[in-house]
Amino acid sequence: MNNSSRTEPDSGPDPSIPQEIFRQAVEQAALAISITDAKARILYCNPAFQRVTGYSSGEIVGHNESVLSYKVTPNLVYESLWAQILRQRPWNGLLVNRRKDGSRYLAELTITPVVDESGQTSNYLGMHRDVTEVHRLERQVQNQKALIESVVDAAPVAIVMLDEQERVVLDNQEYKKLIGELGAEPAATLLAALHADMGEVFDRSRKTDRSFAGHEVRYTPEGHKPRWFACSGSWIDEQDASAEAFYEPTRRQYMLLVIQDITALKEQQEAIRVNALRAVLAEQERIQSLRETLSGAIFQLQAPFNMLAAAVRMLARQPGNGAADALTASLEEALASGSQTLDSLRACIPSQSDETISPVDLNALLKDTLRMATPRLLADGITVEWRPTELPLLSGRPTRLAILFKALLENAIDAIHESRGDRRELILTTLASPDWIEVVIEDSGPGIPEEWRYKVFEPFFTTKGADHQHIGMGLSAVQDVVTSHGGLIEMANAPGGGCRARVQLPTA
Ligand code: FAD
Repeated sequence: MNNSSRTEPDSGPDPSIPQEIFRQAVEQAALAISITDAKARILYCNPAFQRVTGYSSGEIVGHNESVLSYKVTPNLVYESLWAQILRQRPWNGLLVNRRKDGSRYLAELTITPVVDESGQTSNYLGMHRDVTEVHRLERQVQNQKALIESVVDAAPVAIVMLDEQERVVLDNQEYKKLIGELGAEPAATLLAALHADMGEVFDRSRKTDRSFAGHEVRYTPEGHKPRWFACSGSWIDEQDASAEAFYEPTRRQYMLLVIQDITALKEQQEAIRVNALRAVLAEQERIQSLRETLSGAIFQLQAPFNMLAAAVRMLARQPGNGAADALTASLEEALASGSQTLDSLRACIPSQSDETISPVDLNALLKDTLRMATPRLLADGITVEWRPTELPLLSGRPTRLAILFKALLENAIDAIHESRGDRRELILTTLASPDWIEVVIEDSGPGIPEEWRYKVFEPFFTTKGADHQHIGMGLSAVQDVVTSHGGLIEMANAPGGGCRARVQLPTA
């Protein structure tokens, strides 16, 4: 066997180094060093030991190391210390020590047994340092962490921290509750929605470490109704704590996402908005119905007055006789007072209020109109198929448009109600083309006879019997709204039966 490549076992210090160097090295070391006999009686201690403990060499040499013991260290620790060093193995651990002046400190101690040539432990080498401050800082960090965790956990909003790969690294009770309710981890979906909604603003906010607050996101978990969350995000930088990053710090970025469930608030807002719209439309309908009634009455009265005027003209052309002249005079009087009454009636027709033009989200407006019709739809067992397409905003008069679509929807519901057929279906579709927005309302009612396709838009035309109280808006007024928006309306039979109302409104 060739032993030439073997490393020789450590044969001790280089004999060229004088013993004095070792003594001075121990003397001048910054660590508290003591050398004891096999029973832990101190034989030597260096100046650092004297500084840390407060004992001078003269005061402590000859005493057991236990003079430093504060007696709160559990016996088990000493037992394991001795069990280890008695097996001639080094021991390392923490002990609570008491200085000469009675003050306490936490000692991080390493004891190394010194074995003599016969294999017996002749001495122990003890080295320790005061780690009270390090321990205090560690505890402070732990306490703060526990405090932060309990505050975060007690927060009434869901809080989640995500790493750069958008993995959840920390969450609170509310977030866990949310996972339970939604049946899935919502962070990734909400982040995707925030990305989509905020676009570049989100990326810029991440790059510049700028937080964002209260961004509303809609989330529809599978098989559940839509939920709304107000999301706030902030970015936290963490310095890499690994050894290799000590001189070359690298940072890790975490995102703190605060999620507040605002579904109830949204529903409440929605209800308030729909109720307000309902009130405005009811008022508008009342005015419209008054306009229709008065206009109808004037229209009806105008015919006999016209006949009366013709009669007066005929009488006036007759050769004069006393009786005829008197009749003409009283007829003329009646005619004058009649046309005065008509003028007064005309003056009573309420004028149409001028609504300002504003950007209208037609899908939202149609949804609100549908919501208002819900009680009737439910009562008639009508199923609604809502087929929206993403639409640009439309410049229009929101209330008048709401009245228009409400009237078309009500007509459709009336038609389905009257048909009493098995199919009770209403399809509401929105479509967008570069220049137009199209709304199509199809019902499963009896449809519209061909000869009525254009007649339905005539003033005072109604297909509803005399027993029906028609307080809504007639199709002539519907056409008025469409025309005032520069649009087109068409009523026709739908391919699958029933009536199809198609409204086209220009976007430009
Ligand atoms: P002790 O009765 O002395 O010891 C408690 C238990 O330790 C005993 O029940 C026994 O199981 C075991 N034990 C103690 N002495 C022996 C022994 N000679 N042989 C076998 N088992 C034994 N202690 C400190 O508190 N602070 C220090 O800084 C410190 N430094 C030390 C440095 C060295 C080099 C050595 C060898 C020991 C050091 N000790 C230190 C330990 C110290 O000697 C005591 O064991 C300890 O302080 C407990 O003392 P006590 O009087 O409370 O109980």
